[in-house]
Amino acid sequence: MNVPEESRALQLLNRVFGHSVFRGAQSDIVQHVASGGDALVLMPTGGGKSLCYQLPALLRAGTALVVSPLIALMQDQVAALKQLGVRAAFLNSTLDGREVNACEKALRAGELDLLYVAPERLMMPRMLECLSESEIALFAIDEAHCVSQWGHDFRPEYLQLSVLHERFPSVPRIALTATADPQTRDEIIRRLALDNARIFISSFDRPNIRYTIVDKQDARAQLLRFIREDHDGEAGIVYCLSRRKVDETAVWLKSHGVRALPYHAGMDSSLRAEHQNRFQREEGIVVVATIAFGMGIDKPDVRFVAHLDLPKSIEGYYQETGRAGRDGAPADAWMAYGLGDVVQQRRMIDESEGSEDYRRVSVAKLDALLGLCESAGCRRVRLLAYFGEAGEPCGNCDNCLEPPQVWDATEAARKALSCIYRTGQRFGAMHLIDVLRGRETERIVQRDHHRLGVFGIGADLDDAAWRNVFRQLAALGYVCPDHEAWGALKLTEASRAMLKGEQSVEMRHVIPRKGRAAKARRSAASGATVADSALLERLKAWRMTQSREQGVPAYVIFHDRTLVEIAAAQPADLDALAALGGIGAKKLERYGAALLELVRG
Ligand code: ADP
Ligand code: ZN
Repeated sequence: MNVPEESRALQLLNRVFGHSVFRGAQSDIVQHVASGGDALVLMPTGGGKSLCYQLPALLRAGTALVVSPLIALMQDQVAALKQLGVRAAFLNSTLDGREVNACEKALRAGELDLLYVAPERLMMPRMLECLSESEIALFAIDEAHCVSQWGHDFRPEYLQLSVLHERFPSVPRIALTATADPQTRDEIIRRLALDNARIFISSFDRPNIRYTIVDKQDARAQLLRFIREDHDGEAGIVYCLSRRKVDETAVWLKSHGVRALPYHAGMDSSLRAEHQNRFQREEGIVVVATIAFGMGIDKPDVRFVAHLDLPKSIEGYYQETGRAGRDGAPADAWMAYGLGDVVQQRRMIDESEGSEDYRRVSVAKLDALLGLCESAGCRRVRLLAYFGEAGEPCGNCDNCLEPPQVWDATEAARKALSCIYRTGQRFGAMHLIDVLRGRETERIVQRDHHRLGVFGIGADLDDAAWRNVFRQLAALGYVCPDHEAWGALKLTEASRAMLKGEQSVEMRHVIPRKGRAAKARRSAASGATVADSALLERLKAWRMTQSREQGVPAYVIFHDRTLVEIAAAQPADLDALAALGGIGAKKLERYGAALLELVRG
């Protein structure tokens, strides 16, 4: 692509999408594909993948075919493009025969810029024939990791997509995914015959996501406080391990005034679909879910993802938390984590049916995640390092914002371990803490534990501190759960050196900062001051009405971010309004007057 075309791309970016500059590699990708090259794009969720094929679609002659596995998302994407004045349509099983005919006719006549299709539909002989009679600008293969047979999202129909290359060798193809690992990348290249594609790998950092991992005490109450203080009335996802916990948590949150809905594989499928749909379309819904709630969520304004239970790996944690803040506005990844989580995950691996290899890999993955949880350093640096990326402390995670103190816990660790040993490796943390702190409970007296040498040797630390010690010992592998006795902790090979005094250990210790100004933090996060907030509310109410009238999700009208910008800038005329992010020519024409009216109050 030559220089005039490059400026044409930028012009379209401004005029149609209302964005002033390209993000990261977008510009290179757009140029490469617009000039006919194949591309494989690896970009994190929210990185801006759609533009990478939407702009070349506008720059090249003919229609861009976009393969997407998710019917609901297709409809929303098309609705969003139509709002921008782009000629877009979709073709999937929700259409009747007449609608399909009309769509095919428009394709043949060259009246579409973009056509979204389900993969199985694209491979039908009738469709392929229709394509050969039409001018095709490019093929975009979204969620390209669906070709991977080892992943969670495998779609057999994706395997057939290599046919496109054989039938239409001169049409450029762009495959896109947010899955980072090298195996998946190689599989995509192989299965889609993308050997000549240029590969664009973006940083997987999500700078707008703030990572926080708190010490689990009363998880539900901690969650409620987090939602009320930082995300009142905002959309979020709460992940739990079991279906039962999902149901219970949803009921409990609801009883405390949070608009919470459950989602898990054990629910009736129509109710499940309804909950997902409400989450996607309404504002401020909190879905409490198992990891069955995953792909298919494309909501840009999810303001938080909370984990009440520990995920299985850093990959899982990253994928789940990645659903927050796709729109680039500040979002939270929050997790409550305690000894019970370590015990539970370790047991699940021990009791799994998998091979020895499988177990070894699972243990290594869990250990990496536990390392992240126990780390006193920047969470982001650690996350990115896991994916092979280097980084600097981020200033936007709990450890950067409130650096935990690190203390020499060798003495405490030895006391804890000898307490386990002296009581016969048959008790859980609660009882062990009672012994250490010297409480003459009924259970202790019954078992004569008040006569042991370890009785009362830990009176210098409080219960919370001891729970912390046991959790960290479990995370670091100095103690492990007993299979026979539920909740009981046993010593491991590694404990020996510690007990003999040959090893020392440091632990993290967070002193909760009193009276943290949650309000100030929140308004800083949304970028609005108190003075703008009344206007912001008005803008949101207006958007809600528009969204209802047009039957599209609120974010299709305007993203939160754009409304926040309007509230902050308070533009006086159309030119000032057009200068803000996310307001292209079409939206300016359609909504400009109404927005200025709202600003004037
Ligand atoms: P992905 O598909 O990679 O998850 P999207 O394509 O949905 O991401 O884009 C995420 C968000 O970023 C969208 O809200 C989009 O409008 C916004 N965005 C993308 N590119 C730009 C850009 N160059 N400038 C401003 N916002 C952008
Ligand atoms: Zn950090």
